[in-house]
Amino acid sequence: MPSGYHGSYLRIDVSSGRAERVPLSDTVLRHYIGGSGLGARLLLDEGGATADPLSPEAPLVFAFSPLVGSPLTTSAKFAVVARSPLTGRFNDSLASSGFALAGKRCGCDAIVIVGCVPTWSVLVVDDGEIRLEPAGDVLGDPCHVAEEKLRARLGADYRIASIGPAGERGVRYATISHDGRHAGRGGSGAVLGSKHVKAIAVRGTQRCDWAHPRKLTELSRDLSKRSFGPATAKYRELGTATNLLTFNRFGALPTRNFQSGTFEEAASLAPEQLSVAHARTRASCVACTIGCEHIYALPSTALTEGEPRRGVRLEYESMFALGSLCGVGDGDAVLRASRRCDELGIDTISAGGTIAFAMECVERGLLDEPWLTFGSGDAVLKAIDLIGRRDGVGRMLAEGSRRAAEVIGQGSIAFAPQVKGLEIPGYEPRALQTMALGFAVGARGADHNRSGAYEVDFSDKVDRRHATLDSVRHAIDTEDKAALMDSLILCKFLRGVFTDFHAEAADMLQAVTGWDVTADELRETARRIVASKRQVNLLAGWTPDEDTLPERFLDAPLPGDAAALLTRERLQELVAEYHRQRGW
Ligand code: SF4
Repeated sequence: MPSGYHGSYLRIDVSSGRAERVPLSDTVLRHYIGGSGLGARLLLDEGGATADPLSPEAPLVFAFSPLVGSPLTTSAKFAVVARSPLTGRFNDSLASSGFALAGKRCGCDAIVIVGCVPTWSVLVVDDGEIRLEPAGDVLGDPCHVAEEKLRARLGADYRIASIGPAGERGVRYATISHDGRHAGRGGSGAVLGSKHVKAIAVRGTQRCDWAHPRKLTELSRDLSKRSFGPATAKYRELGTATNLLTFNRFGALPTRNFQSGTFEEAASLAPEQLSVAHARTRASCVACTIGCEHIYALPSTALTEGEPRRGVRLEYESMFALGSLCGVGDGDAVLRASRRCDELGIDTISAGGTIAFAMECVERGLLDEPWLTFGSGDAVLKAIDLIGRRDGVGRMLAEGSRRAAEVIGQGSIAFAPQVKGLEIPGYEPRALQTMALGFAVGARGADHNRSGAYEVDFSDKVDRRHATLDSVRHAIDTEDKAALMDSLILCKFLRGVFTDFHAEAADMLQAVTGWDVTADELRETARRIVASKRQVNLLAGWTPDEDTLPERFLDAPLPGDAAALLTRERLQELVAEYHRQRGW
């Protein structure tokens, strides 16, 4: 067995309360590495591509990686992999922090959960031994409250991943959270909830050795040093939300359900402005030297009676989805909405996308909810609460924008902001057309973390408003690179730090595992991992007409930017060329 691995995964059937250790061959580990790659392989092996995502048979995979536990900066991450209840397609979502370290110390490279417990339970994995405990005292609690209570009950050395009330109620875009970080997209929280597991608590003592410890220490020191450089400065100084004004300037900030690419109140949502009126602290995931998290305190004047004073993590995607996409320019309202999503355990992008879609339906007279209007922060908060409770119109919105459009009908699917059912993140496809291709072909639907093609759009490699067939290879490159980073696992905010990512990644993997791995081998590994995600989708019923964008984005220019026009014919050519170059 290579260093950096335990050589097996823990398969837990919560129906019977039994666990078994399933060996992982060296070949599987070398071919899929860990994280998203290993998760995709295990999902296929466990029959997860065809099982109903919310059925007891559906496997939910927590995959670690050989780098977890090493001194390499940003490597304390885990991937949650399942068939998505929102899209019905492959889903992987990643989160950071101590859960990855403690989970791997349980002596396994992944934990696979199947089955369903008759009554709500907490799954405890103690150094590889498992047991189920009653969850009655934490049911209905937000994740951070459940974590606190469970650590008080079980011991401070446990690390706990849990679902909020939304996951308990099967909201199709519910998250799994740990220490304020979220495996956010695609509804893995609903999958865990369908098994009646409120939380997973892990602790362990089993550490892996490293093949070349001295070399690993040198590589780690060098990477940490470079992570303080200019490539990460903007994340350290203002966090991901620093992009908001740039996107607005480029006409690429989705506004009022993608009816515009500029938002007249963008400045009031930008961290530059919010920093003036709010106290701000910086934080980072465990084992990270970058520290991109910026936590804002809400002024007491912005709080209602009894509202908690906890700070709010400010992320670009939350500010866009709950702000400009819903036409809300009140920064405090957006921070409160973001915090409410965290408390309920729902993905801010899908929540904002679905609410913005409903607001446009109201505007067009297709939905009779007169309070749900663009620009109202109170309406966004109310909608989030209804979604979390699956109450009133929240019952429909908890299903996501695609299913809501099917209920509302009247052609509304044309402007439901989703691909394969996953709500589109904060990148206007008509103004960023390499990204548009990345959205259309993405295995888990529209997502910026699985295709980093927006980086190409902001470079001089392409004309961002006029994609050509040359754009396709760039989209493939960024998708492959993302798949590799998500499998190693390393944080994407490191990507600008590398001069030759594949060669450096091969060095790191060699130091950890002892494999004579090369840059070329890793390029092939990345392609294999992307292909395995597609394999899940093929088995799950994927059809070629899914690789597209909603009607709204095709054949008409982005309002206010006549040059930002993507024709249906052009997108079809790009998608066909993507499939040709993939060899699919
Ligand atoms: S850069 Fe940010 S998201 Fe990445 S590991 Fe560090 S704190 Fe976490």
